[in-house]
Amino acid sequence: MDQPNVILVNCDDLGYGDLGCYGSRLNATPALDRMAAEGLRFDDFYMASPVCSPSRGALLTGCYPPRIGFGDFEGLPVLFPSQGVGLPPTEVSMARVLSAAGYRTQMVGKWHCGDQPSFLPTDHGFDHYFGLPYSNDMGRQVGTRTTPDGDQPGYPPLPLLLDDEVLEQQPDQASLTGRYVAEAVRFLRAERGRPFFLYLAHLYVHLPIYAQERFLRSTRNGPYGAAVEAIDWTTEVLLHEVASLGLDEQTLIVFTSDNGSLARAGGSNSPLRGTKGTTWEGGIRVPCIARWPGRIGAGRATSEVATAMDLLPTFAALAGVELPGDRTIDGRDIGALLFDEDASSPHEAFLYYRMNDLEAVRSGRWKLHLARGGAECRELYDLGADLGETDDVLAEQPDVVARLESMAEDARRSLGDARLGIRGRDVRPIGRVEHPSPLTTYDPSHPYYASEYDLADRG
Ligand code: MG
Repeated sequence: MDQPNVILVNCDDLGYGDLGCYGSRLNATPALDRMAAEGLRFDDFYMASPVCSPSRGALLTGCYPPRIGFGDFEGLPVLFPSQGVGLPPTEVSMARVLSAAGYRTQMVGKWHCGDQPSFLPTDHGFDHYFGLPYSNDMGRQVGTRTTPDGDQPGYPPLPLLLDDEVLEQQPDQASLTGRYVAEAVRFLRAERGRPFFLYLAHLYVHLPIYAQERFLRSTRNGPYGAAVEAIDWTTEVLLHEVASLGLDEQTLIVFTSDNGSLARAGGSNSPLRGTKGTTWEGGIRVPCIARWPGRIGAGRATSEVATAMDLLPTFAALAGVELPGDRTIDGRDIGALLFDEDASSPHEAFLYYRMNDLEAVRSGRWKLHLARGGAECRELYDLGADLGETDDVLAEQPDVVARLESMAEDARRSLGDARLGIRGRDVRPIGRVEHPSPLTTYDPSHPYYASEYDLADRG
């Protein structure tokens, strides 16, 4: 079989209940609904973390965050501008795997795996990069603080990168999604004759939300709905472009989100409990749609457990290349789930890590909570019957609890559990550079579009 093109779209903080095809009645998402109708909707798809940087590192490397040193970032839950840590070049990203298989590779959008040289997309197998190296609330913005503890001066101007250079500072965020999709289309046209890998990582729906008038006018759900509908429009553009290039049957498109919604200001994880930053289902279970006409049957849905970590081995298998044999990779090839209605999940257990704490484990329909925010807890939910995690059945299922606890013990030996002081036996260090420096510094004479963003929302 020829190597398929791969387009991976990742949203920022888009919740499980934010798309029409996942039950939203607030947001109009006709293109994504069509994509689901023409492909496969995953109903039990997990990111490996409920927050950005570890989720993205796991997606790229196919590993649980603690495996690659991404459980925390010098004690912080995500990366902040000019930290001296990031994804080391010794890690093998999906872009590097596909690049080695002959693919042309392009990333557009939010990276958030380190902003120092050797941590950037162009150090990780992407031929080219255009986007924000971290979150869109990490620039100069009213009410800015540098760290969660506060008292430092504000962040440096928000950089927009072209490859590894700063192209603009404090860009107009409302126009950025249009620029992203234009760059994506340019790449598809340029590389139409050979296998390509496009990773498009939207800045939406992370706060602050600057949306274009057209979407603010058309949505019934305020700026949040406008951002969701802008994402949907970019999906329409991509679907149109792939069809126009005659590449529908040679192109796998996967659409997902890096973590759950904050569930404020119009966002929804319904019918799941919890929000971004938690290991309730709403923090970590996300929408995922896969479309490949002629290969993936139309209009399917699956409730088999699959994870973002599975994409690397799946893409590698489709490209016909081996994964590196010198390291543990947690993801599994889910080609069978994509192509075969009767296939089952390759995962006996899914682990819910928040930072370096193992907070829960799922096997089949059962989910055992072990800790929450650093404190021990023990609750068992039957996700098959109780998707909202409201009815704790721990006392009724001692055999299930014992089985899941044994899985948790295995996981702790391998990946560690900081809350219990357990160091993992099979973990690799985060990348470090000496003397990190910010990509930008504020200069009052610079011609910024906006020297300070005027929305105070963040998160
Ligand atoms: Mg996020």
